[in-house]
Amino acid sequence: DVQLSDRVQQIKPSPTLAVTNRAAELRAAGKDIIGLGAGEPDFDTPDHIKQAAIEALNNGFTKYTAVDGTPSLKKAIINKFKQDNGLDYEANQILVSCGGKQSFFNLALALLNKGDEVIIPAPYWVSYPDMVRMAEGEPVIIETTIESRFKVTAEQLESAITDKTRLFVINSPSNPTGVAYTKAELKALADVLLKHPSILIATDDMYEHITWNEEGFNNILNVCPELYDRTIVLNGVSKAYSMTGWRIGYAGGPAKLIGAMKKIQSQSTSNPTSIAQYAAEAALAGDQNCVAQMVTEFKKRHDYVVSALNEIPGVECIEGDGTFYVFPSAQKVIDSSDKLSNDLDLAEYLLESGVAVVPGSAFGSPGNMRLSFATSMAILEDAIARIKKAIEAL
Ligand code: PLP
Repeated sequence: DVQLSDRVQQIKPSPTLAVTNRAAELRAAGKDIIGLGAGEPDFDTPDHIKQAAIEALNNGFTKYTAVDGTPSLKKAIINKFKQDNGLDYEANQILVSCGGKQSFFNLALALLNKGDEVIIPAPYWVSYPDMVRMAEGEPVIIETTIESRFKVTAEQLESAITDKTRLFVINSPSNPTGVAYTKAELKALADVLLKHPSILIATDDMYEHITWNEEGFNNILNVCPELYDRTIVLNGVSKAYSMTGWRIGYAGGPAKLIGAMKKIQSQSTSNPTSIAQYAAEAALAGDQNCVAQMVTEFKKRHDYVVSALNEIPGVECIEGDGTFYVFPSAQKVIDSSDKLSNDLDLAEYLLESGVAVVPGSAFGSPGNMRLSFATSMAILEDAIARIKKAIEAL
């Protein structure tokens, strides 16, 4: 019997992928299942981006590149940060990685020592706590509820900080809630962080472009430039350009930290795929109309899903500011049913009723569920009808 490391035994496989796999299994067994578990846009990668990849292949751009990304992709990223976010970076402050996931993994490995604490608001993207654990750090979770629109307050942040806090993670708009922090809320969090100069901040801006809130997109550096020297901005092309399979993420931040993350990457994956880097450059530097088209469609679906969910007795769904997820509370449904004791039971029951959703517990927020609306309106209508019927039959 193989003796596995303590490290791997501490982590769990991604629960969102587990739901997708379970739905696929049931489907293979002949059951009619609608999957609302997916964490990726349903659109194809835009054509001009694919064409760039074909060009890269045809031109023999198929060899190792610089570990931290090609100079021209890094230039496109620097321009993007300047134009979209008003942030200035030099080339040695940019690292291109194999997806946003690897960016955060590099960060955790480059920053944390055993026992270092990382403050993560819940509901969180499922990978943060496990990546922190793999780096021997301690996730410190701040819980939120639907009443605060699933956002942490300055007071909550302040009371989670200890001598061991190394990093605060903020993901806005959020996977799984779709909710974004307002400028005033970011400012209040920044004011707390200014009092604790040894804490670094990771802002995960992966859903930056998929937003429809009135203030538009802002991260903590937009409201508090004083935090520039200790903030790392994480972003990528996966969601905005429907490029999840291409595996390109990028980070901008302090040169010393970026250099350390690059060192980790140099001894693990080396450079991200040359062809995908070429395509990512076309995505960032090219026409942004493709993004606007996707966002228009997502917003239409969001509005439908929110109002349809709120018509189901016991379900409460707040409006999101972006992303392609909603995170309704189903606590009242659970409380009033003898059959269900928690959100895991509810997810299983809905799966048996033909719809795959991810239970809120997977994101550290029991009593809720995450539905992805990265699927067609017709499928969404069918899915919500099934959920309604199943819940009313409880
Ligand atoms: N950050 C957040 C908040 C996400 O939801 C995801 C994907 O689900 C990622 C980062 C990582 O994206 P990728 O590794 O596919 O680029």
